[in-house]
Amino acid sequence: MASLSLRHIYKVYAGGVRAVSDFNLEIDDKEFIVFVGPSGCGKSTTLRMIAGLEDISSGELYIGDRLVNDVEPKDRDIAMVFQNYALYPHMTVYDNMAFGLRLRHVPAKEIDEKVQEAASILGIQHLLSRRPKALSGGQRQRVALGRAIVREPQVFLLDEPLSNLDAKLRVQMRTEITKIHHRLATTFIYVTHDQTEAMTMGTRIVVMKDGIVQQVDTPTTLYDNPANLFVACFLGSPQMNIFKARLVEENGNVYALIGDTNKVLIPKTRAQRIIDKSVIGKDVLLGIRPEDVHYEQALVESHPECVIDATVDVIENLGNETILYLNIDGKEDYTISRVNSRYTFTQGEQVRMYLATDHAHLFDPDTELTLMGVPDYNLIPAQLVAIEDTLAVVFGDTCIKLPESVTKRMIDKTAINGDVMLGIPPKALKSESEEGDIAISGTAEFSDDYPRFRAVYSTIAGYDNYLIAQRPLDMPFSGGKPLTSYVSPDAIQLFKADGERLLADMNVTDNLTKGTAVDDNGTVSYRFVSETNGSKNKLTFVNFTVETDASGTKQPKQTYSDLHTSEAESTIHILPHGFSIDKADIEKTPKMVLAGNIKHLDEYRKDAIITVEVPGFNSDLTLVIRNFSGYNTGDKIKLAVDPHAIVVGKYETIEQAIANAQSEGEARYKEIVAAREREKELEAAAKKPAAKAAKSEQAATVAEGEEAAEPKKKAAAKKPAAKAAVKRPTAKKK
Ligand code: ADP
Repeated sequence: MASLSLRHIYKVYAGGVRAVSDFNLEIDDKEFIVFVGPSGCGKSTTLRMIAGLEDISSGELYIGDRLVNDVEPKDRDIAMVFQNYALYPHMTVYDNMAFGLRLRHVPAKEIDEKVQEAASILGIQHLLSRRPKALSGGQRQRVALGRAIVREPQVFLLDEPLSNLDAKLRVQMRTEITKIHHRLATTFIYVTHDQTEAMTMGTRIVVMKDGIVQQVDTPTTLYDNPANLFVACFLGSPQMNIFKARLVEENGNVYALIGDTNKVLIPKTRAQRIIDKSVIGKDVLLGIRPEDVHYEQALVESHPECVIDATVDVIENLGNETILYLNIDGKEDYTISRVNSRYTFTQGEQVRMYLATDHAHLFDPDTELTLMGVPDYNLIPAQLVAIEDTLAVVFGDTCIKLPESVTKRMIDKTAINGDVMLGIPPKALKSESEEGDIAISGTAEFSDDYPRFRAVYSTIAGYDNYLIAQRPLDMPFSGGKPLTSYVSPDAIQLFKADGERLLADMNVTDNLTKGTAVDDNGTVSYRFVSETNGSKNKLTFVNFTVETDASGTKQPKQTYSDLHTSEAESTIHILPHGFSIDKADIEKTPKMVLAGNIKHLDEYRKDAIITVEVPGFNSDLTLVIRNFSGYNTGDKIKLAVDPHAIVVGKYETIEQAIANAQSEGEARYKEIVAAREREKELEAAAKKPAAKAAKSEQAATVAEGEEAAEPKKKAAAKKPAAKAAVKRPTAKKK
């Protein structure tokens, strides 16, 4: 019994063949690990390195706590079973099994006990006096296993032990080896190229390709959540259907377009698992397993938005099931379906098939990596209001007051008292509360196991999608039960409607300096005098373009009419969004360019919030650059400045901005709370018996009447009430 640890293991054969690259795996005691992959992917090499039959080129191998890189095979306490049995032909079965123990000078009585016990485990007691040539393939393989069992090794290594056996015997031996594993309760590492063996025997499977581990997990998780196209297609027989598709969004729903005529809905529960919503509108690979292509007419009729037209080309009736090879528009190869064998088909028949897209997989056509999983953020429509001397993010029954550590990282003050997208990373939702955490209560709906975590999906008030939390795999889950998650306000992110982040990962600097801004007949110049480093930096631009009017006369036309200038020395601030790193912009206005050094980079997707040290400013500048690329921390960078982003003489700190927004924020918050209260009443009314509901409806009508009488109320307050009004089936029926 032992655990194993393979750390950054490489194998490069003489001649430079790299058979295994950076193999990392922690194997627990008593696990049944299967290495699977196509021929030549490095499975046997890895196993032979564990056995000590091959040198490890680089990396460390531990069995238990012992580093065994340089330990002789015979001293590793492992036993290996090969495909070709490797039995001694001149010895009896008994002697073959006893041989290793005799070499170790084990007393004869003990050897006899061990051989008899192993023979009984394997059911070969009656064969002990025979020679190998008088045995069938299956019997020989049992003897080979017996020889390993008597040694009571810490680890069993099995290299394609069943591949010389016929199909029926393979199935039988498969279950026997599994039973032996249970009985011996020791660690097994099993190599096979056969995905069925891997799926049926392994407690965990290591899928390999070209010497590289593709994914390691339990059979079910690999099957349901393949990390890439290779794993998706390698496991499962017949293999997953892969469609070239384009994702589109219509009325809040995601559809996959296949060919010119097929359009299938990706249900919300599934679409919500798209990690990066920016793939909507783009080409993807859509994977559907053959068992998810249904012929049952009841299913076809109940899922009209997931139906495709197909032509039956080949029919394989296997007795217990029928495999259909279908032609569909937009797919070059066959679409394979597994259907019940009681249905009969004719070649050329037109059929309508239901694609169970609630089990669809999506892959990036370039990287072939899955697009499904858990998103970086739960994106919840919310409002950012200034209340109680700070900012709060409000949605449903949740109000997250932001501590100074968060407000100091706010990049855009114009978002205050407006709609935002609250981003809560699934990782940040915890089951235990810590000081300062916010509780979000809802109902647990379902869970989904990923390689390193369990994704728990719950419904919460004020959010139409599921709230996804990442929990440890061993955390119990019960669907339908109340679930409270906790989040630290420091862990959240806020986004604008266009997806731009509102919070930097560090405090936002003020982008301030002192200086003069002079408008000399349309030529505007900003001269900065830093309070700290004294360096002078100057930006100049011509604030007019020359236009030719209808009569052919040239006229100067002002570019910006609302610039603030001041000949006296005053405060100059540049808005974080007023910079561009675009070459064209820099070349177009060379005198409006600042040069600096990147001090800090905070990238997310294609955008970055960067901190740049620029001579002439009191402190580093914080700026937001969309479509950022090509720079690292420490690099020199040129920034074209948008004259419009230069604010002269009236800079407002974040604290001032929050203070100034309080009265509007408080009013807005009251409306939100009132609207939510009304929504709750209506929800309660919808649940109550009809008579009571009617009463509440009256109350609701009164409330709505009151609202109408108050023209000041904003759309934000009206919306939820209007929505809730639709949710009153009981009251309406009456
Ligand atoms: P698998 O067990 O997955 O079929 P192997 O581990 O046997 O794959 O082989 C992995 C790669 O290493 C293959 O490309 C194979 O040709 C190469 N290889 C295996 N053994 C040797 C060797 N002794 N010398 C050179 N190359 C080898």
